[in-house]
Amino acid sequence: MATMKLEIVTAERHVYSDEVSGVVAPGMEGELGILPNHAPLLTILQPGELRVMKQGEQDAYIAVSGGFLEVMANRVVVLAAAAERAEEIDEARAQEAMRRAEERIVHRGADVDLAQALASMHRAQARLKVARRRRHPPQAGGGG
Ligand code: ATP
Repeated sequence: MATMKLEIVTAERHVYSDEVSGVVAPGMEGELGILPNHAPLLTILQPGELRVMKQGEQDAYIAVSGGFLEVMANRVVVLAAAAERAEEIDEARAQEAMRRAEERIVHRGADVDLAQALASMHRAQARLKVARRRRHPPQAGGGG
């Protein structure tokens, strides 16, 4: 079966690097599916979960907090502001970040940057979604 190289990097570290059979990324206009031998592409990602398909293995999920995705020569490179594999996510920390962001949005004073609070909430949502995949993989009937 055809594969392609997937690399997920941040300014700080290499998060993922492997041969995969498909990727579904959080594009600005919804889910963006990429299969091997895809045409060249450069696009922006929003905070969300990135799903990695590998032949004969369960799908893997990675939380990305927005960034760029480039496809070139059967290689997909994601340059993310931050990214974590499901097993790396500290769920309590994400819940706390979510709580802080919601609090800032609801009780917003003149000093609160709404766009920043929303972005922080979306990062936390993405991390919680991916962290919960550890308990409810879609194959076990979890979904969504
Ligand atoms: P927080 O307010 O909890 O720091 P944040 O959304 O502001 O969350 P980021 O600025 O996106 O955090 O990320 C800073 C660093 O912390 C990155 O290296 C990121 O991978 C890591 N990180 C953030 N939240 C978590 C988490 N819940 N679990 C594991 N790593 C995290």
